[in-house]
Amino acid sequence: MKTVAIVQARMGSSRLPGKVMKAVAGHRLIDLLLRRLRQAQTVDEIVLATTEMSLDDQLVNHVAKQGIRVVRGSESDVLSRYLKAVNETGATTVIRITGDCPFVMPDLVDELVSVFHASEEGLQYLSNIDPPTYPDGLDIEVFTAESLHRAGREAHDSYDREHVTPFLRREDGILRDVIRLDRDLSALRLTVDEPDDLIMVEAVMGALAPNLDFNLEALFALYDEQPMLFTVNSAIVRNEGANMSNGQKLWKRAKRVIPGGNMLLSKRAEMFLPDRWPAYFKRTDGCRVWDMDGTELIDAGFMGIGTNTLGYSHAEVDGAVMEVVRNGNMCTLNAPEEVLLAERLVEINSPWAEMVRFARSGGEANAIAIRIGRAASGRDGVAICGYHGWHDWYLSANLADDANLDGHLLPGLNPRGVPRNLAGNTMPFMYNDFAALEKLVATDKIGVIKMEVVRNVEPTDDFLQKVRALADANGIVLIFDECTSGFRETFGGLYKKYGVEPDMAVYGKTIGNGYAVTAVVGRGSVMEAAQSTFISSTFWTERIGSVAALKTLEVMEREESWTQITDTGNDYRTRLREVADSHDVEVVIGGLPSLTTWFVQGENVAGYKTLVTQEMLKRGFLAPPAFYASLAHTPMVLDRTFEALDEVLGIVADCKAERQSLERILEGPICHTGFNRLN
Ligand code: PMP
Repeated sequence: MKTVAIVQARMGSSRLPGKVMKAVAGHRLIDLLLRRLRQAQTVDEIVLATTEMSLDDQLVNHVAKQGIRVVRGSESDVLSRYLKAVNETGATTVIRITGDCPFVMPDLVDELVSVFHASEEGLQYLSNIDPPTYPDGLDIEVFTAESLHRAGREAHDSYDREHVTPFLRREDGILRDVIRLDRDLSALRLTVDEPDDLIMVEAVMGALAPNLDFNLEALFALYDEQPMLFTVNSAIVRNEGANMSNGQKLWKRAKRVIPGGNMLLSKRAEMFLPDRWPAYFKRTDGCRVWDMDGTELIDAGFMGIGTNTLGYSHAEVDGAVMEVVRNGNMCTLNAPEEVLLAERLVEINSPWAEMVRFARSGGEANAIAIRIGRAASGRDGVAICGYHGWHDWYLSANLADDANLDGHLLPGLNPRGVPRNLAGNTMPFMYNDFAALEKLVATDKIGVIKMEVVRNVEPTDDFLQKVRALADANGIVLIFDECTSGFRETFGGLYKKYGVEPDMAVYGKTIGNGYAVTAVVGRGSVMEAAQSTFISSTFWTERIGSVAALKTLEVMEREESWTQITDTGNDYRTRLREVADSHDVEVVIGGLPSLTTWFVQGENVAGYKTLVTQEMLKRGFLAPPAFYASLAHTPMVLDRTFEALDEVLGIVADCKAERQSLERILEGPICHTGFNRLN
């Protein structure tokens, strides 16, 4: 008979990396745990079970120095780690302790082990967690090595293997019991998963210092006297980690160190599926994505928010980029490919365009175009229609009147931090409202008109031709922002489809198939104005962008990708309508065919958006109600997407007809819409 306490711990914890080696009250968490556990009288040996990853070497060395046996095994199959420890120690009874519980109670361990051994019926599993009455972090499970062996043979589910004991707690034929406290303290958190937990440990340990060997009674007495000490971390949900994806854990961490969590509103998890969106990727291929849990998903949604019309990880584009990585991306000298790319873009935009400037994001390319346009026209006033980025010149449109940018893709954009005295320089007009634009121009202040060629509605009454004529008559520089629309319906700008040429066009998104490169192309007479001002930045010169764009343009031209993605987008729309009709669900479809967005008509649009996203995710798709087509979206991918959408729209129909409750089906909060500040 040998009773062995196996402590599972690792450095790579996803919510608080390195937590077991973090110091509180002058001691590392793992040392506090081991020190306290050593006082249990019923434990014959303590073993640390960790992973084989080199990240854990530090922990292994630290613990081994204290004479503790260490067993190393799989990171995700923790059950097999336990079995290895059982085999190496010859344990007959196992005590499971997790490394994030520095308050482990030796008296409680002894109580459970004694009850376990004294049981006449031959208990195989005893814990104080099922149901929990003890605080989270005082969890103790005792079981026979034999039943662990059985779990090792019969539990195949990855959840069971990662969490070691679900099989023992669930399976028939295993004699179980539970120790309960005479009051319910299960809401109290004495475990360490998040930074707030460390503050709690510090506070509690501090209050009990210098006695680090306090027992259960002393701890509860402190709780009764000073409950506030224990509450800094009370918002964290018990066992949240077990039910949270690795992506969500990282997203939670991100929001602590990155305001808003990331750099692009349209990639925030809350925009799709709060608490459930996978949030991060490990790998991509075509339209397939592997998330942080290694789950393979099909991106039938935003495809990098419109960057990858050729598909993700395109072999030819990536191959060209690898070559750059081998030969050098950055240098004191310039990258020759930027000249070739400029010539290529002039050719694609002939006959009107003669010169090009490059940047790395759409917003900055737009800012460059505005600077050049203002310099060329000699006037500050800008009339805008559409979304053009985050810079001061654009957001200043919201200074005069907070509603000014409503209807321009992101209503409610907050211009705080944009100098007040920029008010009145950038003025919006609505698409197809030529009279409104004429009115702005009549002020004699407008030097630049910047607009998206088409966003959601087609031009009516020769709108684009009239805008062109108005600009010509008033010496105004006309800029088409083709960041999103470029190369989606023509080999170049959407303007080609309508036969109206601008003075400048801005390209972004698609031209590097996922690599950062954007461009401003323009008439020579206008572009020369760049020389009368200062526009310059180090990373606008890096080589990867130019090389990626040259290769992307080559592949796009060869494959006539704009035709293919438009056909695919139209196919998607037709099928969406058919499936929606078959379920009697009304959907509203918008955008260019290759940039399709849609929503379920009626009340609670955001609720149904969340439902579609949630149910599609369960079926293996990153698919909020939108479809940005790429060459990787083959007919087979579309077939699979619609098999899933058919089921999902069936659920939508059930909710609409009140056969099911939307609120009950939703497994988390409803997604954010527009610009919501994240907490
Ligand atoms: N202009 C348009 C028309 C866009 O669609 C976008 C991006 N959605 C931008 C500018 C801004 O580009 P970026 O996010 O790369 O700065």
